[in-house]
Amino acid sequence: MAETVDTKVPVAAEHEEAAALGEDTVTISSSDNQTSVTIHRHYCKGCEICVEVCPKEVLRMIVATDRWEGSLVEVVDIEACNACMLCEYQCPDFAIEVYSARKDMKKKEKKAIAAATK
Ligand code: SF4
Ligand code: SF4
Repeated sequence: MAETVDTKVPVAAEHEEAAALGEDTVTISSSDNQTSVTIHRHYCKGCEICVEVCPKEVLRMIVATDRWEGSLVEVVDIEACNACMLCEYQCPDFAIEVYSARKDMKKKEKKAIAAATK
């Protein structure tokens, strides 16, 4: 079930700061820096797909009057993110990016093994 935008939820501080600085990217990192979620504000059309597919309720929609769409996705609980990548894979506009240090390391290990066994 799609979560409707709560009109009482204002633009989050990090989005406000990015807008004030003219930046189009907001990155929220976990306290151990192992995981981060980046929102590309310019590409987000506020469709809520990422909110719907996230199994950990990491994301929510917020009102963003500076966007023509009127809403944006916000990261509310980065510590809960399990880096499943569902939000990134399902976003139709490449507006959300997930980084996982653990997965990144596994990818590098696989590449190194493949290169060593050539
Ligand atoms: S799925 Fe993509 S475009 Fe839709 S709200 Fe999430 S980040 Fe924005
Ligand atoms: S990577 Fe998975 S858990 Fe993290 S925000 Fe995206 S959908 Fe949610």
